[in-house]
Order: sequence, then C-alpha cells, then structure tokens
Amino acid sequence: MDSEFIDFIDWDNLGFDVVETRSMYYATCHKNEEWKEGNIIPYGTIELSPAAGVLNYGQGVFEGTKAFRTMKDRVILFRPELNATRIGSSTRRLCIPEIGKDFFLNAIEQTLIDNIDYTPPKGKGSLYIRPIVWGTGPALGVKPVDEYTFIVFVSPVGSYFKDNKKRLNLVVTEDYHRAAPMGIGNAKAIGNYSASLLPLTKAKESGFDDVIFLNASNENMIDEISSANLFVLKGNILKTPHLGGSILPGVTRDSVIKIADKIMNLKVQETDVTIEELLDADEIFCTGTAVVVTSVGNVSFQGEDHMIGIAGERSIAEQLKKILLGIQQEEIEDPFGWITPVSAH
Ligand SMILES: *Cc1c(COP(=O)(O)O)cnc(C)c1O
Repeated sequence: MDSEFIDFIDWDNLGFDVVETRSMYYATCHKNEEWKEGNIIPYGTIELSPAAGVLNYGQGVFEGTKAFRTMKDRVILFRPELNATRIGSSTRRLCIPEIGKDFFLNAIEQTLIDNIDYTPPKGKGSLYIRPIVWGTGPALGVKPVDEYTFIVFVSPVGSYFKDNKKRLNLVVTEDYHRAAPMGIGNAKAIGNYSASLLPLTKAKESGFDDVIFLNASNENMIDEISSANLFVLKGNILKTPHLGGSILPGVTRDSVIKIADKIMNLKVQETDVTIEELLDADEIFCTGTAVVVTSVGNVSFQGEDHMIGIAGERSIAEQLKKILLGIQQEEIEDPFGWITPVSAH
C-alpha cells in the first residue's frame, strides 16, 4: 500500500495550497483552429510574451475538479463532463478557441494518471485538478490574440477553510459587485476573481471568512460568495439563486440540488433569493468543488450580526455533505451515474 503514495507529503495535514507534482498537460492552438492533442511535460514554469493577451486583457478561463481515492481502492473523477461543458461555454464567451469535451476529458485523465500517486489516501483529501487556458499570443490593441495555451496541473488538497469544523462567518457587501448579469460572471473567467480580491481582503481583515455579493441589477437579491454558490433553507424549502447570468453554474450546486430533491425530499427552488430570506433562514450553506458543502454560522449585514440556525450532525448541510462525500468516496451507492473510474490503483 505505502508504495502507491508519494512519501514526502504529510497526508494528515493537507490544506488548500499548491503542492508541485510530477507533470502537467500542455497544448497550444491558433485562432480559428482546433485543439490538437498536447503532451505531458514536467511540472514547471512557462515563458510568456509581456504582450500576451492574458497578461494585458485578462483573456483566460479555468476549471476545477477533484479526483478521489475510494472505498473500492481506485481513483475516480466526479462528473468531469460538466466541467468539460462549462469550459466549452467559458472559452466561447472569452473568444478562446472552444475547448471540446473529448479533448478536455482526455487531457485531465492523462494528467491524473501520470500523477496518480499524488492522490491522497481515502479520507485525507483529494487531488485537485486545475485545467486553465489563456490567450498567450501578443496584442497591443484589444482583440482576441492569435495563440492560446492550455495547461492542466494538479495539487493534493485537504480542506479549503483552515478550521474544517467551524461554521463560516460571512459579510454581505454593499460596496462591491462580483459580476454583472450580462458580463462574465457565469463563465469561470480569471477576471471575476480579481474583482473579488479587495472585498475578500477587507472582509478577512475584519474577521470574516468570505463575502456575500448582491445581484448587480437588483441589490435586494443575493448572488454568491467569491468562489462558491449559496443555499438558503427555511422549513423544507431549499432555495438557491437561479442562474441569471452573474452566477457561476457550479457542479456542486447542481449535485446538491439533485441530492436534496431526489434523496432528501426537500422542495428545491432555483429562484430569486432576497436578503430578507437570507437573514431569516434556518440554515445557510455554500457549495463548491473546493469548499464542498460548508455551513454558515453568521451573516453580517449593515453592521449587524445574524446568527443562523442549527449546527452539527442534524443540520441539512451536514447531511448533504455526507451523502455527497459518500458518493465521491464510493461509500454509498451512486444513484446518479456521477462517478468515472480512472484506474485500479
Ligand atoms: C468554481 C466556482 C463555484 C463552484 O463551482 P463548482 O463547479 O461547484 O466547483 C461557484 N462560484 C464561483 C464564483 C466559482 O468560481
């Protein structure tokens, strides 16, 4: 068993930081051409023109998914075809040659297989997979550039927030928007994250874990936090903001909706969610590949704290998380067909 794992990693203390691995996938493509199979090359730095489109005008989009070592002593991917579809629409939105499904899935599988021994032992974390594509050709005037680079790198990760057990302390910002409904908020575009850095930094300086952004066209509605979707529970009704253009269509969001509806018999509504409903909720939680399902314990709005509902094992958030992780680690049967086995090791 030991020989299957890299021995210089402290598997019991993984956080969410970059751990360099053996290799990465690398491919390039010219404007108006199609992506052709790339190569697995040693993990390392890359060279770029200072005039690269991505460096000057932010032409870049990324993805994030995880590989898990499971009960069945194999490594699996969780719904990678949804990431494939999403990077297809993200690339279209940013005028990057469209990344196709088969090209994408083949690239992440090759990268995973070459780095499979960096996948943490079951229960200690997962191998985070980061596909990313940029305009790397030069541009001085604003335009889609002529050359593009696609890379997939991986990193073993544990939990995203430092104290795994803690419930989150969030603040609603009325000073900043993350994305606008007809902008690029529904693409996993790198620029969205630079917009969230200042509000996120300010929130952390004030002791909060993250920021709740309001909808840019109706500030009575909530959107999401900087890198995860939001859910609000009242009674047996579970609401999450509908995909109105400024929200990222999360794979975890979709999975939690299906688990809540089909397994937990909750009434799920993708709809407008008001600040009032947020502050009056029995439970609030956020979802994402990195954060999984994380409960919110407090929401600060206009300087006032609003402590939220039940904690612990009995919470709906905790039950949803247990089922989701159970499926991902093949501890409970996958009724949805979400698991893609990659290797027998
Ligand atoms: C990636 C991301 C999410 C979560 O999406 P998943 O597919 O569940 O990982 C939610 N919101 C934002 C802004 C994101 O970037």
